[in-house]
Amino acid sequence: MNHPQAAEQFNRDIDRTTWHDKALWFVRQKRDRAVYQVPEWEQLRELASQIKNHTLSRLDDYLEEFERNAQQNGIQVHWAANAEEHNRIVLSILQKHNAKRMVKSKSMLTEECHLNPFLEKHGIEVVDTDLGERIIQFSHEPPSHIVMPAIHLKKEEVGRIFHEHLGTPADASDPQFLTETARQHLRQKFVAAEVALSGVNFAIAETGGFVVCTNEGNADLGVTLTPVHIASMGIEKIIPKLEHLGVFTRLLTRSATGQLITAYTSHFHKPRPGQELHVVIVDNGRTEQLGRPDFRNSLKCIRCGACMNTCPVYRRSGGHSYDYTVPGPIGSILSPNTDLKKHSTLPFASTLCGSCSDVCPVKIDIHVQLYKWRQIISKEKVMPAGKRLSMKVLANVLARPSLYARLGRVARKVLSLTPYAISHAGAINPWAIARELPEPPKQSFRDWYAQNAAKEMETPVSPTPVVDPN
Ligand code: SF4
Repeated sequence: MNHPQAAEQFNRDIDRTTWHDKALWFVRQKRDRAVYQVPEWEQLRELASQIKNHTLSRLDDYLEEFERNAQQNGIQVHWAANAEEHNRIVLSILQKHNAKRMVKSKSMLTEECHLNPFLEKHGIEVVDTDLGERIIQFSHEPPSHIVMPAIHLKKEEVGRIFHEHLGTPADASDPQFLTETARQHLRQKFVAAEVALSGVNFAIAETGGFVVCTNEGNADLGVTLTPVHIASMGIEKIIPKLEHLGVFTRLLTRSATGQLITAYTSHFHKPRPGQELHVVIVDNGRTEQLGRPDFRNSLKCIRCGACMNTCPVYRRSGGHSYDYTVPGPIGSILSPNTDLKKHSTLPFASTLCGSCSDVCPVKIDIHVQLYKWRQIISKEKVMPAGKRLSMKVLANVLARPSLYARLGRVARKVLSLTPYAISHAGAINPWAIARELPEPPKQSFRDWYAQNAAKEMETPVSPTPVVDPN
């Protein structure tokens, strides 16, 4: 299913669509309140954007600097060109330790690499320890949001999932009770795990250390209890210096959830005594995006999710309708880089209102890139034939003012004579399924203007009275 088809399916459940929209708008408003408390917010955004621009211009240097410093600290660094290599590296570390149980904190990169199914095929039990991630792991779904992976589910649905997997009472849906149940369940998994995998929010070239931000402390518990810690990071997670970190941590959580700071901002610099610490640095299509001048700055993304929370299309179509690891506006500019044909409808899943670019803490020009992808998609002929034809016809009409005016006159006449039942029949006019078609005006603005401008010219202008300043 492409995006319009999947969004249409999501929209059939009107209650869920309304509630999903409101829940995300609530987070957007919380973000606004947190942002208004920082008078230098715009300067911070600008600074973050410049740091990221600079880093992307010397990405290879900073990655090598990070590798050198990390190795000096005793961290084992691995490079993965793609998802397969990443998964094989993680498996080889597990096999080296004869490990069969791994706990994992939230990492969109491992979702992108489809790590869980790969490891499960090799007999490894992988337990996602972020509460939202654990819920969707039980229900065999991908995350629908990069910060709130189970935002599409109601508490009653979570209750049913827990009843099935954790044996809670069938009608239990109290969030406090369900959270406590998950906590007890996850404690056992933490204690039994042999390896812990975390994501990386920021890796610092200057120190060879990295930072993981979570609200539940699950990453910290996992990596503290196990003798092996694997951290998976995309190449774009690098920042040059430690002094840059504060710029991003101030922006990240305010943009993501409206909190002032993430509950746990954990710094890792070296393995603790007796522990192995591995960092897997993954490309998986990122250098290709880096090589596209119009789209390279999409790699500045710090995965806060603010562009999703504000997007009127995302809020009303749900994350799964994007059929890509990262949904929403940012996903719609990242995904065509990986498979233009498969994701050709995503750059059109936008009103181009620009709200995504306005809230983005690192100033990615998301709506401009969406528009550029549309141009490429149309040139590459991966748009459906019907849409291509209608765009061609429209371009011809819009290029000929007199033809446009004539067709407008015909359309106004036809519409005023068409019975309501026909003009609103979904099969004929899908636009009017959920909207009221306005009465066609008697004349076009051009005709009105031509008439009224002529009258205006004929009306004598009364002289301005001279006022004596004394
Ligand atoms: S594109 Fe910007 S707003 Fe969207 S997730 Fe990335 S950093 Fe956040």
